[in-house]
Amino acid sequence: MKIVLLGAPGSGKGTLAKKISRDFGVPQISTGDLFRAIVKEDSPLANKVKEIMASGGLVPDEVTIELVKERLQKEDCKRGYILDGFPRTVNQAKALEKFSKIDTVILVELASEIIIERLSSRRTCPNCNEIYSLEDNKEEICKKCNTHLIQRDDDKPETIKHRLEVYENNTAPLINFYGERLFKVSSAGSPEETYQPVKTFLEKLEA
Ligand code: AMP
Repeated sequence: MKIVLLGAPGSGKGTLAKKISRDFGVPQISTGDLFRAIVKEDSPLANKVKEIMASGGLVPDEVTIELVKERLQKEDCKRGYILDGFPRTVNQAKALEKFSKIDTVILVELASEIIIERLSSRRTCPNCNEIYSLEDNKEEICKKCNTHLIQRDDDKPETIKHRLEVYENNTAPLINFYGERLFKVSSAGSPEETYQPVKTFLEKLEA
């Protein structure tokens, strides 16, 4: 099954992707995670991407499209994948149509006031990329691999506002682009409440 997850930063795409991946046996391909791995290297590309990510902007389409295209050719993507954070521009969506036949696009919806609250208290494991809320993990230690959690630079208040503007200007037009192909879900409730309608929908799609 080939799935695109669409939604603003902090809407819960990553958490939802992990649940789908666990139950439907397809990998989560997060472009944000791929870029965070790249910036750990010491290369001209790494430095450029680091600067863009820190500002909350988007990495150029050519770089992003090439990265995803290559990643989807790997063995683990043969049975399908969940694209988390790609496409983020209409250009990327058009390119994706050329190299992948997506089965469904899930739009995760959440009011921006809640997004700002959630992103401000989000903590991430720099080792395994697991996501936590500070309220549920006051010790700030990853429950999976025991690593000290961090607050991503781009989850700091000044950058969050810019990321939401970038979403409105560049990514929200994809809602029209996909139109009738969208399955919409609200993530205002708990992660499990968000997942249930998606699970039911995907089970029907798979049948
Ligand atoms: P995320 O973890 O999905 O919020 O992504 C973190 C950052 O990585 C974004 O703010 C962008 O700078 C970059 N990024 C991730 N996905 C894309 C994409 N599809 N196109 C351009 N930049 C991206």
